[in-house]
Amino acid sequence: METKQFKAESKRLLDMMINSIYTHKEIFLRELISNASDAIDKLYFKSLTDDKVGLSKDDFAVWITADKDSRTLKITDNGIGMTAEELENNLGTIASSGSLKFKTENKLAEDNQIIGQFGVGFYSAFMVAKKVTVITKAYGSDTAYRWESEGIDGYTVTEDEKKSTGTEIILELLDDTDDENYSEFLDTYRIKNLVSKYSDYIRFPIKMEVTHSRPVEMSDEDKEAGKTPEYEEYIEIETLNSMVPLWKKSKSELKEDDYKHFYTEKFYDYNEPLKYSHVVNEGVPSYNALLYIPSKAPFDFYSKEFEKGLQLYSNGVLIMDKCGDLLPDYFGFVRGLVDSEDLSLNISREMLQHDRQLKNIAKSIEKTISNELKKMLRNEREKYEEFWKAFGLQLKFGVYSGYGMNKDKLQDLLLFTSSQGKLVTLDEYVTAMPEEQKYIYYASGESIARIEQLPQTELVKDKGFEILYLTDNVDEFAIKMLMKYKEKEFRSVSADDLGIENTEKQEEIKAKEEENAGMLKVMADSLSGKVNKVILSQRLKSHPVCLSSEGEISLEMEKVLNTMPGNDNQVKAQRVLEINPEHEIFGKLKSASDNSEKLEKYAKLLYTQALLIEGMPIDNPVEFSNLICELM
Ligand code: ADP
Repeated sequence: METKQFKAESKRLLDMMINSIYTHKEIFLRELISNASDAIDKLYFKSLTDDKVGLSKDDFAVWITADKDSRTLKITDNGIGMTAEELENNLGTIASSGSLKFKTENKLAEDNQIIGQFGVGFYSAFMVAKKVTVITKAYGSDTAYRWESEGIDGYTVTEDEKKSTGTEIILELLDDTDDENYSEFLDTYRIKNLVSKYSDYIRFPIKMEVTHSRPVEMSDEDKEAGKTPEYEEYIEIETLNSMVPLWKKSKSELKEDDYKHFYTEKFYDYNEPLKYSHVVNEGVPSYNALLYIPSKAPFDFYSKEFEKGLQLYSNGVLIMDKCGDLLPDYFGFVRGLVDSEDLSLNISREMLQHDRQLKNIAKSIEKTISNELKKMLRNEREKYEEFWKAFGLQLKFGVYSGYGMNKDKLQDLLLFTSSQGKLVTLDEYVTAMPEEQKYIYYASGESIARIEQLPQTELVKDKGFEILYLTDNVDEFAIKMLMKYKEKEFRSVSADDLGIENTEKQEEIKAKEEENAGMLKVMADSLSGKVNKVILSQRLKSHPVCLSSEGEISLEMEKVLNTMPGNDNQVKAQRVLEINPEHEIFGKLKSASDNSEKLEKYAKLLYTQALLIEGMPIDNPVEFSNLICELM
């Protein structure tokens, strides 16, 4: 018997296949089951118009048989089978997909579902098998054929016996090695798991004979004698897949519990989802999706290890467990799945990435998520605030990253704690602004309690204006990206110009500054390298001093930037020490204005005080302590 060679390009592909394309060997089963289901689909399609098929829908099934003694796994279907020529064409050449040809030739009705469109799946069998045998009999043919191959060396085709139409694929599994356990694919439990993981929604039953054991019925005598029961084995035929995917059922027949239960089971989350959405998109692209917003962030959500993505199905067959391209980073918290008939089933993630259909689906999904969130914000405020606690940070990162390219999409989803002790949206903030308020004010600090005590907030609060409290590292960076909201600029309470004009007072302070120019210069000089200027403050009311900054980088940003790796205190805000001219401390300073030694000490003290209020490290605690003692 002549051993035929695979076509040259097939050989290379086969080699690649065995060694690299699929990282999870277990998916071979998904591939073979999909092929079987495709073959059944074809015969079922024929049976609709051809009585000679003699089978009705309920007769069709895929069978799995595992035999531990011979280390073989068999996948059998009663689908359309293959002729000798088809065997040659389909299994001798990779990437000549018979399914695709059938689809085009027969102009299949829209609802006909054929999964395979790319001829590589079958060869994945060689990832786990040293030998693959295919016994097949095509519909309408009297002869059956046997195709055998041990991989790269080629294959043989011979005539064989087979009673009924269909195909039987027999895998002789590879021997176990230190790294790989192939025997597990003979294990009933493992097989059941794989089917429910990858092929649960194949619409024909996947059946298996499963061996169970039960105690043998005992006679009363034996029972009384206290004999231990004997066990006997019996075989039961089980259907391993549930066949109809939840997402393909009509919404009206599903209850909230169905969706929630599905989520907790499928995504291994103890907590019920906060929100779900069942999308049936019949337009272009056509797809069904189940989208869930978890109620809590997974423990690794804000770490590098976290991998975003939705499950991707093509006609009920799982293609990818986490398709990251379906979700933008800022919606990376969404879990769920997408099932589409419009996808061309490519072999690798790399190729899928460039798929136009996939991109369109991703766009449509992003819109859905955004709308759902807006709806929740409008109608279910409490829920939204819960969501915000779990995932708000991610949205703020989204505003900031990519140079703010997504800020318009995200700005209306943001919440901030405000000086009024509640969470507000930017829209709520702006709507509540009194007419004379020019800017959206914000103050940053480590915690709300700390910010509340910041001297810089006094004037703005005194005016009755609301302030947004920024406590997360990313906040101020995100605000800087936004720049404006509804034509209103953001303004830090530490900024020079707060837009709270009081010309009279300003002039008064200016005059005082000129009067005391000499004194302020001595102070500034003594703090050179630490602050750029010492000025008299317009914003302080009860506090003696505060620090503010000039230019783009605020004190908070300085703190954040310098905690980033590789940024060893490189970034410095341009600090300004502000002194309250109405505070009694100012009188003390003035009385020391001819004593520059004393003035320098006061300057150091006040600067350190300001640092402490700001929650920043002080340069020289011992000196500070000595100064206090000395001046007391
Ligand atoms: P794909 O399924 O993506 O087309 P495969 O390499 O898995 O690629 O299969 C190649 C071809 O072999 C299929 O298109 C189909 O025509 C044929 N084939 C594979 N398995 C079966 C089967 N169980 N019954 C009938 N034909 C099959």
